Amino acid sequence: MKTELIHLSELSPEAYDKALEKAAEYIRAGELVGIPTETVYGLAGSAYHADAAPKIFAAKGRPSDNPLIVHIAKSTDAENIAYTNPVYYKLAERFMPGPLTIILPKKPIIPDTVSGGLDTVAVRCPSHPIARALIEISGHPIAAPSANTSGKPSPTTAEHVYDDMCGKIPLILDGGPCSIGLESTVIALNGDKCTILRPGAVTEEMLSELCTSVTVAEAVKSPDKAGSKPLSPGMKYKHYAPNCQVVLLDGTEDECIAYIQNHASGKYGVLAADENTNAYPEKAHVLSLGGRDDYAEHCRRLFDLLRKADELQLETLYARLPEEKGLALAYYNRIIRAAGGNIVKANENLK
Ligand code: AMP
Ligand code: MG
Repeated sequence: MKTELIHLSELSPEAYDKALEKAAEYIRAGELVGIPTETVYGLAGSAYHADAAPKIFAAKGRPSDNPLIVHIAKSTDAENIAYTNPVYYKLAERFMPGPLTIILPKKPIIPDTVSGGLDTVAVRCPSHPIARALIEISGHPIAAPSANTSGKPSPTTAEHVYDDMCGKIPLILDGGPCSIGLESTVIALNGDKCTILRPGAVTEEMLSELCTSVTVAEAVKSPDKAGSKPLSPGMKYKHYAPNCQVVLLDGTEDECIAYIQNHASGKYGVLAADENTNAYPEKAHVLSLGGRDDYAEHCRRLFDLLRKADELQLETLYARLPEEKGLALAYYNRIIRAAGGNIVKANENLK
């Protein structure tokens, strides 16, 4: 299959509308389109069309028991696909459109293939204008996981999508780089108690302002605690892994720098804060994460840098273990998965 890549920013208003109509046609016909969202690029297919979800699982190589998030144009559209409740609307008023996904009991119109056989469905209302326009123009809610090959870092540019999906889908819409860069926060509700199944840009602290209690699922911080029947099926799969070995260093900044100076060998890289880019040996490939405490920038850059590490054919990529609170928890969750839980104490074994 030939894959067309349309750069929307280069188009006249008429050509832009035509490109979106073309994408909407594909969606209505049960075909897939790579689309930008504010979190990461999505592999979009109609949530109503029986053909779309199986194509999504096949194109990604994703296990079919790992359910898809359904994207809607406005929060009240959840009524078409799920049974809502007052807490959903309280959260929706504050966080939708935006990077929050809420698990709700599903209505029969959503095929079992979309929900991975579960009786719930994950609902999100994206804020990205292109994603919203496509949902509105097509008239279909859109099932869209990240548009990467399963297990690889999620795509944050249209080029990343092209690298993974070329030949597998007919169309990719390029809307520029994603502003958040990590996937949405996924939560389950029990009354007005909330459990975070996947951390994202809507943080534990933000949710605590509206919910009586917020619990972070154990597997968020320790992937190996997901077990065989986790709260969210995606918890049990390997994620975000580049080909190189990612090593997380647990220690102060100075201890981590000293560890790399004393121990790193072979072809290696470092995910480094801007303040430290000159602190590493000359042979280190230094990949900048942005300012030391700028976790929004770390999130925006992480997946692109993991892909860069593979382009550079690094054997090892070192990074400092981040904090586990606020937006840093989302970054933490992705990088410990990229590292397969490989955490080393930086202050031990120092020469
Ligand atoms: P992705 O599609 O790659 O953004 O991942 C979606 C995440 O949401 C995965 O971790 C899924 O397991 C999770 N998810 C989707 N639907 C449900 C659901 N009905 N119940 C629990 N988790 C879900
Ligand atoms: Mg994904």
